[in-house]
Amino acid sequence: MAKATKTIRQSLGYKPAHAAWFAATQDLFNQVAAFYFEVIAAHEKVLDLSNKEALTILETLTHATQKNPTPIMPLEAVGEDIPALFRRAAIHAALGSARSFYSLLRKWKKRKEKAEAKGKQFTERPPVPPRSWNKPATLYAGQWKERTRSSIVLKVWTGTCWSWIKVRITGRELPADVEMGSPSLIWRGNHWWLHTPIEKQFSSPPKIEKQVTANAETKICAVDLNMNEHVAVCTIQTVEGTILATRFIGGGREISGFRKKLLGWIARNRRKTGIIVEGEQDNVHLWGKINHVDEHIAHLVSARIVQFAREHEASILVFEHLGNLKPSRGKYSHRSNSKRAFWMKGRIFTYAKYKAYHEGILTSRVNPRHTSRECAGCHGLVARYEEGQPAEDYTSGAPLVFCFQCGMKGNADRNASLVIGQRLITRYQNSSQGKPQAPLGVERGEKSPGVEACQDAQCEEGPSLPPARHAGCNEHGTGAPYQRQNMSATEVVKVVGKPSAHLTYPCRKA
Ligand SMILES: [Zn+2]
Repeated sequence: MAKATKTIRQSLGYKPAHAAWFAATQDLFNQVAAFYFEVIAAHEKVLDLSNKEALTILETLTHATQKNPTPIMPLEAVGEDIPALFRRAAIHAALGSARSFYSLLRKWKKRKEKAEAKGKQFTERPPVPPRSWNKPATLYAGQWKERTRSSIVLKVWTGTCWSWIKVRITGRELPADVEMGSPSLIWRGNHWWLHTPIEKQFSSPPKIEKQVTANAETKICAVDLNMNEHVAVCTIQTVEGTILATRFIGGGREISGFRKKLLGWIARNRRKTGIIVEGEQDNVHLWGKINHVDEHIAHLVSARIVQFAREHEASILVFEHLGNLKPSRGKYSHRSNSKRAFWMKGRIFTYAKYKAYHEGILTSRVNPRHTSRECAGCHGLVARYEEGQPAEDYTSGAPLVFCFQCGMKGNADRNASLVIGQRLITRYQNSSQGKPQAPLGVERGEKSPGVEACQDAQCEEGPSLPPARHAGCNEHGTGAPYQRQNMSATEVVKVVGKPSAHLTYPCRKA
């Protein structure tokens, strides 16, 4: 069985006075967690145990009972009459922080020893334990009751006593077929929210390799992410290669224009004040707006991608690796805008991946090399051009595509999306036939040189681009011909045909 978790966020409706109580509850929770962190620090061996065993020991150390009247470090020091389940939630929070801190410390010590053994100077600072605690209060069973679709009764600390209060819930409903975790109280944007983790269990989907090789009917949803009007172009194809559907997800210009406008305002404000104070965020409101919109669009687009895949019963979602961010020239608003558009592509991938997994769809990525330069029909080289212009050259970012070899004409992003899907299929089909990885030169010799060379086995086999090659790509940046904006198709053929090893991974053209 496979598990998928996500969080349902709901807004709480409460009397203004209750906001202070929620804050007091969170404060107390953090005080208790910080106290237990100290207890763990004094008894580090506890961390070798499982959470359940550690919990028992920590309670014996701190909690007075009839059998255990004088614990070594009494919790009473922090507060009296703390409910048992509130205490346990705080212990688990403290255990989580402690495990993370001590594992970082262990790794740091190892690095230090290694450096000292080699006689090198070691200047890296050690990790520090949390200085301040600001964890959301998790409410275990016993801290809440009578949860309905629109209300919940919570046990909160008022500052002087524990009190049950009823609050309204608005927002998303909890889905029916899931297991609910313990809700948390979250302070976000001047308001208290209730976050509830939900867990869905389903039979784990078969591995991508198995799906692709064993069943020719398997449907693949391939996605090409862009920085132009169509933020995402999705296509559905079967493993056999039948194309079933296409969807364009637009709105790219709108979001880019909006972001650019706000970035322009920020640049203008900065010019006016002249100085940016170090360690202090300037234009807080505008940056907040930009972040909010980026996040919103990433969620929206990823949700629509997964929805499209689901509608067509695709079981695999495939993207291309993002490559490196190419710095652009121009005004601050332009440079900053393209950087944020690049980050958003990464976010769309991350969100789509977990949303897809929730539907039992697996996600993969393929080599981005030349996905927009290759014909989805015959794998020949294509021209990319603006409407009304001759189909001769490769103009990066132009909307139309024309294949010199088979005469295919169409939308460039859709073509790229189809190529992305095909790469995934070939990756597994090649490996399943037990085909040895041919060295670059041999592979090229077998095929007609030049045109076919860009789909050599090596570049398709790699599930991920090794970082070293990314770096290499930058190093050769100025020398690599693909970095140029426009180049004629014949030039490309010339370059691709050359079997020079270090040119294999140019960054992908948008
Ligand atoms: Zn073609």
